[in-house]
Amino acid sequence: MFITQSTTKNTHFSSLPDDLFAAIEDLKKELNAVILVHYYQEPDIQDIADYLGDSLTLSRQAATTDADVIVFAGVHFMAETAKILNPNKLVLLPDLDAGCSMADGCPPEEFAAFKAAHPDHLVVCYVNCSAAVKAMSDIICTSSNAVDIVNQIPKDQPIIFAPDKNLGRYVSEQTGRDLVLWDGSCMIHEIFSEKKIVQLKIEHPQAEFIAHPECEAPVLRHADYIGSTKALFEYSQGSAAEQFIVATEPGILYQMEKHMPHKQFIAAPATGNCACNECPHMRLNTLEKLYLAMKNRAPEITLPEDIRIAALKPMQRMLEMSAQLSVTKSMLSSV
Ligand code: SF4
Repeated sequence: MFITQSTTKNTHFSSLPDDLFAAIEDLKKELNAVILVHYYQEPDIQDIADYLGDSLTLSRQAATTDADVIVFAGVHFMAETAKILNPNKLVLLPDLDAGCSMADGCPPEEFAAFKAAHPDHLVVCYVNCSAAVKAMSDIICTSSNAVDIVNQIPKDQPIIFAPDKNLGRYVSEQTGRDLVLWDGSCMIHEIFSEKKIVQLKIEHPQAEFIAHPECEAPVLRHADYIGSTKALFEYSQGSAAEQFIVATEPGILYQMEKHMPHKQFIAAPATGNCACNECPHMRLNTLEKLYLAMKNRAPEITLPEDIRIAALKPMQRMLEMSAQLSVTKSMLSSV
């Protein structure tokens, strides 16, 4: 049984400094720390990031940082990914309970049985999975590079794609490949309301509807553009449109509005009446907890070394394959 260990949780807020931003800056210098922040974090945390990005950007930063301490403001599997790449660094997660419904929906024991039932298949796993599931994979991918990575695999090679069936279906459509899909999904991206989005499009006929591929097929079929969180941000920068309906976790809207104040961004609505599109796992991290994690050097992410080594191989494969793609793309764009 695989267990990720950690030290104590940060639950005592009694002695917080008046200026948390300044205190975090001081601790950053003292620890030689780098703060990696996912787009789905609250605005205050986004503002103190050394690197802000999606999973691929942050994985690349984690792979190349020379800091001694990595403070990962994201969810558990992301901090684990940083630890896989940096066994000798202290990796801190502000709230250890910041998990992920998609990663939790792919238990290692059940995934091992699924893999055993498809012995000739190559295993491509979305980075949103535990270290133990990564350790059973051949290649890791992110929503930024999943299509390109599957396209690099020989056509006659059967593939398992896990754990997100929605991203898997999208990759299958884009590549023309039959993929064996694990039946998992994201609790945030699967609850967008197709009906309300269609209504919004009618009310805002000039708006472009842009969506993350973790959304379900009935929502994606209305999209003018589909891409990773970073790709949605970049698309909205390049587009001539002035209005966008955005179907992904609304944390990215903070960056969109900050960088494009002249454009309007409307968060796509969920089914029901709640603001359910904010990821409750991501939002467990707060600036206070981040400060305490740095002050206490805890909670720390640790991994059994055999799991870490096995998970490193498919991570490196992804970084190599996506680096090759970047080189090819930059060569193509320069001719
Ligand atoms: S938004 Fe979805 S995939 Fe991302 S951490 Fe939250 S539950 Fe997991």
